[in-house]
Amino acid sequence: MNIILLGPPGAGKGTQGVLLAERLGIPKIATGDLLRDAVKHGTPLGLKAKAVMESGALVSDDIIMGIVGEELAKPASSRGVIFDGVVRTIPQAEGVARLLDGMGRKMDLVLFFDVTDQEVLSRIEKRRTIEGRADDDPTAVQRRLTAYREQTAPVLDWYEARGGVTRIPAVGSVEAIADRVRKAVGR
Ligand code: ADP
Repeated sequence: MNIILLGPPGAGKGTQGVLLAERLGIPKIATGDLLRDAVKHGTPLGLKAKAVMESGALVSDDIIMGIVGEELAKPASSRGVIFDGVVRTIPQAEGVARLLDGMGRKMDLVLFFDVTDQEVLSRIEKRRTIEGRADDDPTAVQRRLTAYREQTAPVLDWYEARGGVTRIPAVGSVEAIADRVRKAVGR
């Protein structure tokens, strides 16, 4: 089963994605985590992505599609994956659809984590004091929200026109939201 988690930064996709991946026994492709790891280890990919990520802008579609292609080709991904943080642009939506199609697969479920900007801002501020992510500073956060509105929000309509989107109200306890996800997924 291939599932995509969509929603603004700080919507809780990462937290719910881990729980869902464990429950379904399939891996999660989290481009933000993979990129942060590359930055930490100073790999060529990390060197390319570092400044863009820290500014709060989106990394190029080419780089992202390279990462997704590699992850999808891994044997562990053959029974399905959870996409967390990809897809963030229409070209990425098209690219992922093409990759899946080439493998005789499709996106089975699109979950949209719905939260207000105000909730997002307060969650990210809390996370900044705990994790100290460079892109959680207020200027970068504003840029990430703008990138979300301008480049990622249209992706919802793209999926809406191709099979639909399931909305998950993403405010409440981690358990309550996990329960909504479980119902949407059906297991
Ligand atoms: P969050 O969901 O909290 O915004 P992520 O960890 O998913 O954060 O992503 C952090 C940063 O990594 C993004 O702001 C962006 O610079 C980069 N990034 C991650 N995934 C993508 C993607 N699919 N396309 C473009 N940039 C990405």
